[in-house]
Amino acid sequence: MWTVEEGISRLREGGAKITSQRIAILRLLKGRMDHPSADQVYSELREDFPTISYATIYSTAQLLANSGLIQILSIDDKRVHFDPDPKPHGHFRCESCGALYDFPIDEEMLDRLRHGSSQQAHSVQIFAYGLCDDCRRATFDLTERIAAEEEVLVEA
Ligand SMILES: [Zn+2]
Ligand SMILES: [Zn+2]
Repeated sequence: MWTVEEGISRLREGGAKITSQRIAILRLLKGRMDHPSADQVYSELREDFPTISYATIYSTAQLLANSGLIQILSIDDKRVHFDPDPKPHGHFRCESCGALYDFPIDEEMLDRLRHGSSQQAHSVQIFAYGLCDDCRRATFDLTERIAAEEEVLVEA
């Protein structure tokens, strides 16, 4: 995992001016496991940086993605999510609560995509959609409860 100092030097190499807002974005993204969205980054930084803009968040993220430090995920068609882990891995999005989870992907398949004879991928994103554990359990409990209530109704 990269450090804030590494992030600063990548931004500098990319020609960005190093501002306290950009450093705050680096601090926030570093080591984050929950794939924060641009909205989340904005609302978490707004208190300390009332003048921060989405443009600054997006341009900083884009520079970091270009230099290979982070991934920008388009798993959600309504918002982008940032992932400070640049290593290839799959993402699972819960369609009920919106949480994003990592899952490992097959190295062999990645190799074929990267070094295939006709097409060579330089970037691979794998998205899966469904229900997370918590939401599946909640749906299950609800179905159980409805079933139980229906039984009571039938008995009465
Ligand atoms: Zn969920
Ligand atoms: Zn991830």
